[in-house]
Amino acid sequence: MGAKMFPNDDFLQSLLTGEPPLCDTVTHEHFSAQLLAEGILLIEPHQAGEQDIVLSCGIHGNETAPIELCNQLLQQIFAGTLVPKQRLLFIFGNPPAMRQATRFVDENLNRLFCGSHQQAEANLERSRAAELEQALVSFFRDATRSRLHWDLHTAIRGSIHEKFAVCPYQPQRGYRADTLALLACAGIEAFLFNHAPAFTFSYHSSYTFGADAFTVELGKVAPFGENDLSRLSALERVLRALITQQPLASDDALAEVKFYQVKRVITREQPEFSFAFSDDTANFTTFTQGDVIAKNGDKTIFCDVTGEAVVFPNAKVAIGQRAALCVVPVTLKDVCM
Ligand SMILES: [Zn+2]
Repeated sequence: MGAKMFPNDDFLQSLLTGEPPLCDTVTHEHFSAQLLAEGILLIEPHQAGEQDIVLSCGIHGNETAPIELCNQLLQQIFAGTLVPKQRLLFIFGNPPAMRQATRFVDENLNRLFCGSHQQAEANLERSRAAELEQALVSFFRDATRSRLHWDLHTAIRGSIHEKFAVCPYQPQRGYRADTLALLACAGIEAFLFNHAPAFTFSYHSSYTFGADAFTVELGKVAPFGENDLSRLSALERVLRALITQQPLASDDALAEVKFYQVKRVITREQPEFSFAFSDDTANFTTFTQGDVIAKNGDKTIFCDVTGEAVVFPNAKVAIGQRAALCVVPVTLKDVCM
């Protein structure tokens, strides 16, 4: 064992208390670790495999379950019970929001990537988006290596599919079934394919670096210490296998999984905006053609086609922002190359 970077190897605890690390760089028997900035930790095995893996969490500061899971993996790495075989970049996205137990401080960080943070005056999240983009540039420096980025979240509300992945719009590349199968092995029950660019962290990695990148939704928000991490045991198993370069049997993993394509976006256009359903309506709740979905000022938004489902509804977004996605079921054949 080498020197310690954090007391008890507890990265999360040091982030929550705001205490500086004991040192910025440590070298262990199998790897070296370097703290690149607050919440950004690079792990490089002395003999690295062929994949560069980014695991990000806490892009929304109150989405604690994946933060606790990533911290646990790091503790195991530092304790020597999980020996990394791939280059890893662990990102705890928004430490100030984590400390305040809030989604964000100034604005939603997950809308500010692909350089869009430059389009308004700097604030906490805009500066952080620039810093995270810079960290990816230096981490993904070798274009010949395979690149994977899972951006781990939890949702504000319940969901018909507890765990689901949002797949960035990538019409040039399409999606590979083996990449999706890996997520299915990790407990993902549904995939949602975006129909347009969105300046999220996963879209940024997909578009800018050609990474196999996904936004992964892992259940409902809970405060630190109140998560049942056993609900993430399949994900943990897959992450451990990725980190240690172990093969995963993923044949048939997609057999039970559902696929959805985004059909349209409902944007809040007016101060008076409301949904026709209650706040606790689950993600992927379906509607029948002609049902009222929302009221946008004096405009009524109806369900276009029976089976249309609503995901991420949030009537409280700023005017001009996405209030919900409307999705329809598709088959794997429709979306995979
Ligand atoms: Zn989130």
